[in-house]
Amino acid sequence: MPIEKELKNIKKDVSLAPFTTFKIGGRAKYFFVAHSQQQIIEALEQAQKYHLPFFILGGGSNLLVSDKGFDGLVIKIQNSKIERKDSSIIAEAGANLAQLLTIAKNSGLSGLEWAAGIPGTVGGALRGNSGAFGKSIADLVKNVRVFDISTRTIKNYSTKDCLFGYRESIFKKNKELVILSGEFVFDRDSIYEIEKRMKRYLEYRKAKQPLECFSAGCIFKNPEGFSAGKLIEKCSLKGKRKGGAQISKKHGNFIINLGNATSQDVMFLITLAKEEVKRKFGIELEEEIEFLGF
Ligand SMILES: Cc1cc2nc3c(=O)[nH]c(=O)nc-3n(C[C@H](O)[C@H](O)[C@H](O)COP(=O)(O)OP(=O)(O)OC[C@H]3O[C@@H](n4cnc5c(N)ncnc54)[C@H](O)[C@@H]3O)c2cc1C
Repeated sequence: MPIEKELKNIKKDVSLAPFTTFKIGGRAKYFFVAHSQQQIIEALEQAQKYHLPFFILGGGSNLLVSDKGFDGLVIKIQNSKIERKDSSIIAEAGANLAQLLTIAKNSGLSGLEWAAGIPGTVGGALRGNSGAFGKSIADLVKNVRVFDISTRTIKNYSTKDCLFGYRESIFKKNKELVILSGEFVFDRDSIYEIEKRMKRYLEYRKAKQPLECFSAGCIFKNPEGFSAGKLIEKCSLKGKRKGGAQISKKHGNFIINLGNATSQDVMFLITLAKEEVKRKFGIELEEEIEFLGF
């Protein structure tokens, strides 16, 4: 029996570009939107049964998809319930980080203000331990609920088990762990003060980052003691173009899609930035973004 018969609403040959903030990328052989924890698990089990490579897609905001696409099943995580209980909030993996922030703010719960302006989902943020302004999502985590593909069980990871580091977590190292939801604990503050901080962070972001363009945020991690953006800037690469892609004139660590960029255009600029920074400073830049289909 073909997978189409077993997994209801699975789609074939779906363009992935619209599901990424870069707006770049070819087609997925299969594409399934999972609206609940049950549907996520079901899709993973079907992928295993049919020996299909799979990819978990959140908001596609930290991702470069190859123009060749992906010859497997893309599972778009879209379970999105958010539930508040006193000072804690449980958010499903497919909920937008922005939604979580809004609910926290409206409940007078503080701690996530730095995330104002960061796209993507709760699952994506937990996996990459997203952060800004010296803070990260790990600071708020009480536990993370995952589906472990290798044992086919649901498990709870405490903050300690998550092995969070700078843009790191156990979920990044172990691809068998798919995040289903997270529980976050906040501090209390007035809505007015929370809003004020959010505005300040957002204004800083708007001034420094090309938020108006298609991008995947920062391409590289900051090497210890350095800013990747500043290193790239010192190599005179800001504004450098290849086809439809450009190293942002506003921020050296952002590559923007001017409208018709291919994944190869972006890859060219990534390689160039790495080579130049290595040549000039002897520093090895490491990508923060994820790649699919290369
Ligand atoms: C304008 C802009 C600004 C940004 N600013 C910041 C910033 O300040 N700080 C920062 O940290 N990031 C920033 N980012 C990057 C990005 O928004 C975050 O990393 C975000 O948390 C990624 O979430 P996502 O849902 O889009 O993940 P995706 O891009 O969809 O996926 C990223 C990776 O996570 C995996 N994944 C997604 N969901 C799950 C899940 N449920 N379980 C297991 N694995 C999963 C995917 O397989 C993939 O490997 C920015 C991006 C943009 C476009």
